[in-house]
Amino acid sequence: MLHIPSRIIQDMIAHARELAPHECCGILSGKTQQVAEIFRITNILANMSDQELSRFEGAKLSDLKQLSPEERADIAFQMDAREMAMAQREIRTKDQELLGFYHSHTASPARPSQTDITIAMEFESYRQKLALPQPLHLIISLENREKSDIRAYRIQDSQATEIPIQQISS
Ligand SMILES: [Zn+2]
Repeated sequence: MLHIPSRIIQDMIAHARELAPHECCGILSGKTQQVAEIFRITNILANMSDQELSRFEGAKLSDLKQLSPEERADIAFQMDAREMAMAQREIRTKDQELLGFYHSHTASPARPSQTDITIAMEFESYRQKLALPQPLHLIISLENREKSDIRAYRIQDSQATEIPIQQISS
């Protein structure tokens, strides 16, 4: 169970709506599965080179190469590494933990895509070397315009398992 203050849930939804039709992304930190802070991070995928895009394998890669930079950002995200490093430094300074990554799906359900799982597994490979705690992956879906949906997943061995979210007041 991941506990998230309602103001942070509202902030993630607002971030997703502000960037739509592009995907937004960011980081959640806190302690013992209780989120305390949100860090909005820039989605740089729109500016990535073909070489950098080679992480997206198979059909997904050829799909992405055919898209304009703007279209790429609509269907996927890549967090700005410098902003991520700054956020992680601040998280350590505050004696918190990286609890989760979030991003939006503007036109699909709040479930990890194959690309999401690939990115999560890539992070897993170096997370273990750095001995960081395992973050959850949150997805905000704007598919239903009237009612946004947020879900959290643990991604391990290329499998996503949903973890319930408990909204807390404050
Ligand atoms: Zn996604």
